[in-house]
Amino acid sequence: MVKSSNIGYPRLGEKREWKFLLEHFWSHKIDETEFLAQTKALRLNSLKKEQAAGIDVIPVADYSNYDHVLDTAVAFGVIPERFGKFDHKLSLTEYYQIPRGNKNAIAAEMTKWFNTNYHYIVPELDHADFKLLDNRWLTYYNEAKAELGIDGKPVILGPVSFLKLGKVKDDYARGAVLAQLLDQLLTLYVQVFQELAAAGVTYIQLDEPTLGTLTDQAELALYQKALKVLKDAAPEVKVIVQTYFAAVDDYEAVVALPADGFGLDFVHDHGENLKAVVAHGFPADKLLAAGVVDGRNIWRSDLTAKTALVDQLKAAAPNLWLQPSNSLLHVPITTQNEHKLAPVIKNGLAFADEKLAEIVTLTKQANGDDVQADLDASKAALDQLNHSEHRNNQTVAADVKAILAAPTERQSAYPQRVIAQKVLNLPLLPTTTIGSFPQSAEVRSHRKAWRKGDLSTADYQAFLDGETKRWIKIQEDLGIDVLVHGEFERTDMVEYFGQKLKGFTTSQNGWVQSYGSRGVKPPFVYGDVQWTEPITVRDTVFAQQQTDHLVKGMLTSAVTIINWSFVRDDIPKNIVADQIGLALRHEVKALEEAGIKIIQVDEPALREGLPLKPRYRQEYLDNAVKAFKITTTGVKDETQIHTHMCYSDFEDILPAISALDADVISIESSRSKGESIKAFEQTKYDKQIGLGVYDIHSPRVPSVDEIKQNIHRALEVIDVHQFWINPDCGLKTRKEPETIAALENMLDARNQVVAEL
Ligand code: GLN
Ligand code: ZN
Repeated sequence: MVKSSNIGYPRLGEKREWKFLLEHFWSHKIDETEFLAQTKALRLNSLKKEQAAGIDVIPVADYSNYDHVLDTAVAFGVIPERFGKFDHKLSLTEYYQIPRGNKNAIAAEMTKWFNTNYHYIVPELDHADFKLLDNRWLTYYNEAKAELGIDGKPVILGPVSFLKLGKVKDDYARGAVLAQLLDQLLTLYVQVFQELAAAGVTYIQLDEPTLGTLTDQAELALYQKALKVLKDAAPEVKVIVQTYFAAVDDYEAVVALPADGFGLDFVHDHGENLKAVVAHGFPADKLLAAGVVDGRNIWRSDLTAKTALVDQLKAAAPNLWLQPSNSLLHVPITTQNEHKLAPVIKNGLAFADEKLAEIVTLTKQANGDDVQADLDASKAALDQLNHSEHRNNQTVAADVKAILAAPTERQSAYPQRVIAQKVLNLPLLPTTTIGSFPQSAEVRSHRKAWRKGDLSTADYQAFLDGETKRWIKIQEDLGIDVLVHGEFERTDMVEYFGQKLKGFTTSQNGWVQSYGSRGVKPPFVYGDVQWTEPITVRDTVFAQQQTDHLVKGMLTSAVTIINWSFVRDDIPKNIVADQIGLALRHEVKALEEAGIKIIQVDEPALREGLPLKPRYRQEYLDNAVKAFKITTTGVKDETQIHTHMCYSDFEDILPAISALDADVISIESSRSKGESIKAFEQTKYDKQIGLGVYDIHSPRVPSVDEIKQNIHRALEVIDVHQFWINPDCGLKTRKEPETIAALENMLDARNQVVAEL
């Protein structure tokens, strides 16, 4: 019999109940007892839903009070020393100090979970005092069994992935350090496994997602060792090694590892896992937990196509489970609370609960049940969306075709453009900012009032104009060369464009966890994307009218929009990127026609969409460059195109960054303490660049000397005629006084450096 299974269920709650519980606990609105009771109710409710959906193998301990990597760390005593020494299971208050910091200790770092928008807390492995403080997996297993009679499948982050996701100070010896730590850690995993076995656990889901990014053969030995130790310790428990987000790197070696089953992703694998299964077969004595439904997107599956996939898998692996491609943590919970979407769109959606229903349907079909009615209904819904006018916009099709027929290049190459751009009259080491200014409580409360209907659109606009005017004056007084309007009208740089372009929509409750209690509600790109009217022109021109300085237009680029949205999956992403690129091209032209001479097209999320496997990266980057150039190449030589990126490790993508052919790029650098500048020692950058001269991610006001040092360091590798002076990112999260003080110092530093030249 084929079984249905799940890998993980979202934590947030249908109406973000979980988020509010955490925040109420933090602000002392509820106490620990109430927090525990209410989170338990939420957790059991999720389990009940999975049970009612007909899922055979239900994950437990996928729940977290914050983050599953943090949970693993605190369970095993991997707690940074600055938070204290612990011999007991951490109290909630102690636990939350790690990700949130306290007055004596800075919060642990967080970083992106593979190539998703979820952030995990990075385990600090140096000085780790490994000991089992809490067998949380056993607690959750027992809870589900006692309360609901569920023989759950505890989800445990595997020891190798856990270590690989952690950080050690001595990066050079990383491999050796991890191998050594693994031995210590394994004794604790053994204890957990044995306790689970004693409690009657049937299956354990051991997540080892890093099997998708193996770097060498030696690494495989770590998994081999870990699995062997665990198998010997608890032979009666069946261990399923779970991977996701990519194909496993060395299929034959992986499926030969000493485990009872393997969870493979058949959605985000570039077809590689299926190819491998077909070519090499699957070990007859093992279980294949097949991720067949997309766990990272919100659209219904084409169930007819999926049944064909399932048939193929079943032929190779009779001992088969069907499940989502990854934990459903990355999708919203249910479409049932969406009341404002057009039916044709809503019917095309499948959030977590609907995905579980799809899994159950596919499982029934695989077991020979008649599910034709379900398959037909699903097909009808998808057909309707695919054949709707939204996805068959002839204007967009013709426009994209026309733009792609000609090469998308600027009229002249960069050296000629520099000459043409002399009309901008910029000084040596020009100064600018990245776009946004503080989104004060006032800005937020006005927006809220306007959204609720308590403030008229005219009054809201007048308020925004007032803020822009005030900040134009501040920028003039500071002596900044290229000004911005401040982005006060935008809550979010992607949502804002999503609201104005055809083909996008937003949900009411489509939240997904970003980090801790923070959720994001990504826009949906459901149809062909079309520009219908100017978006930013009014606000930009308003700002320009207030000053004789140049005001820079501010747009978000296609790939960033895509990486921070849920994108239709009926056509390749690069085609969606071309459409968005083209829509923005119209906006760029409209800005230029309105007299705006400098236009910035932000691409902060370019890096995070980078495929996990190096071999797919070039194609991704080529597509990104293409979309960016569709947006930016329609302008005159004298119009200056800027872009901005948000990370300091850009060395490997420097060729792609240069290929964007932006006249000026601003990029983060200060957080890497000068490390990133090394990239320019190897590769000479031939256009203008602003390496952020101070870190905006903290309220600390940098000193003039410190900024001067950063400038001097940069000028060692970058020609003074190519260098711009700017902070390293937008200032919307900062407070006004610290922003002004920091910019003042930035201007002083620039002026002193210029005077010394
Ligand atoms: N222009 C945006 C801002 O200043 C860029 C934000 C970002 O880089 N993430 O806020
Ligand atoms: Zn940035």
